[in-house]
Amino acid sequence: MSAQLSQNQDLLSRTLRSVWHPCTQMKHHERMPPVPIARGNGMWLYDFDGNRYLDAISSWWVNLFGHANPRINAALSGQLDRLEHVMLAGFTHEPVVQLSERLAVLTGLSHSFYGSDGASAVEIALKMSFHYWKNFGRPQKTAFLSLKNGYHGETVGALSVTDVPLFRDTYAALLQRTTQLPSPDWRNARPGESSEQVAIRAASALEAVLVEQHERTAALIVEPLVQAAGGMAMYHPRYLREARALCDRHGVHLIADEIAVGYGRTGSFLACEQAGIRPDFVCLSKGITGGYLPLSVTLTTDEVYRVFYDDEMTRGFLHSHSYSGNALACRAALAVLDIFEDDAVIAGNLARSAQLTSRCARIADHPRTRQFRNTGMIWAFEIETTDPQFARKFHGHALDRGLLLRPLGNTVYLMPPYIMEEEQMEMLVAGICAILDVTD
Ligand SMILES: *Cc1c(COP(=O)(O)O)cnc(C)c1O
Repeated sequence: MSAQLSQNQDLLSRTLRSVWHPCTQMKHHERMPPVPIARGNGMWLYDFDGNRYLDAISSWWVNLFGHANPRINAALSGQLDRLEHVMLAGFTHEPVVQLSERLAVLTGLSHSFYGSDGASAVEIALKMSFHYWKNFGRPQKTAFLSLKNGYHGETVGALSVTDVPLFRDTYAALLQRTTQLPSPDWRNARPGESSEQVAIRAASALEAVLVEQHERTAALIVEPLVQAAGGMAMYHPRYLREARALCDRHGVHLIADEIAVGYGRTGSFLACEQAGIRPDFVCLSKGITGGYLPLSVTLTTDEVYRVFYDDEMTRGFLHSHSYSGNALACRAALAVLDIFEDDAVIAGNLARSAQLTSRCARIADHPRTRQFRNTGMIWAFEIETTDPQFARKFHGHALDRGLLLRPLGNTVYLMPPYIMEEEQMEMLVAGICAILDVTD
């Protein structure tokens, strides 16, 4: 046995003794242990046995420009020598100021409030909207609207507006009651209906609820264009335009949770741009640091900001996180924005998306796949299977072929970093087709 192999075994037994892994029934690791990773480089993750895995899901959608990216590494080492962190209450620093200024230009929202992960950005948006209405003299506006099949994170507030039964049902007794609206998912189309018509129909359901409930409703929260964790449901931008107009008409905030779809994932920097709308709140996280460090931000308008600006302490937004606006995380986020600019990433992704889509024809035409769909740098399809363990088995077969893929139920999706090369696309598509041929 080589020294490396034993290092692998050693880490495995130690992780199972001491690390409680996320989104995992730990007993399942008896049959399929986690994979110890020694290092990463570009699209690849390497284990201790010399195997490598193509990271086709950006390590849970966070990695935009590859592992061990030289430009982000350099930015971080420079920052390490100056300032790693300082509390953001009563203090400020260059990276957090620059990041807020640049995000204001990119989103049209001029005030940035920082958290550490996606769920905290959602909590901040929900609390800010609620508090806005209280300060505004409408304290009865305390309820939230969300979409069927939506996902906004798993802390108690964020889970209240999430509709993924696997994550939600166990904790139902802890959650706020919210109203769930029909999803504009184009797969809900009735015979002869276009995706735009599905969006219009979903918007009229929203209108009916707003007419009835607007006086007690603070905000509507949506994932723009793609409902990601709920199974990569995609929808027409018309829904966002209608939702914006309806929220305006009824005095309800629109919260765009762009944690998964922002940062170029759907083909524009923000998904909302494709509908030509500006939300009252935008939540960003995941890709914000290129997959390096936990950071999230909730951006909002001057109008919201002004309602908190007062001599009275408690009219201010007193929410806080210890690592709010961490200098290292903000520096990584600035390096990410530099790459977007220097490499014209949004334009480059147009070509990259078209290349992978055309290679995916083989997947779309495969007899076992259904509902093949694509938005920007997200691809998804359903698999015909009777096997309840499909997702885990597919994940295992993919690892055997050097691919990191992690289906959501029967939905297989691709969400690669924005650096994928043609050869890697070929390997990915060929690997998926081969797995579909051998599994059942
Ligand atoms: C991942 C995700 C979240 C939660 O982010 P965490 O960093 O995992 O807390 C919230 N909303 C959406 C749309 C997400 O995809």
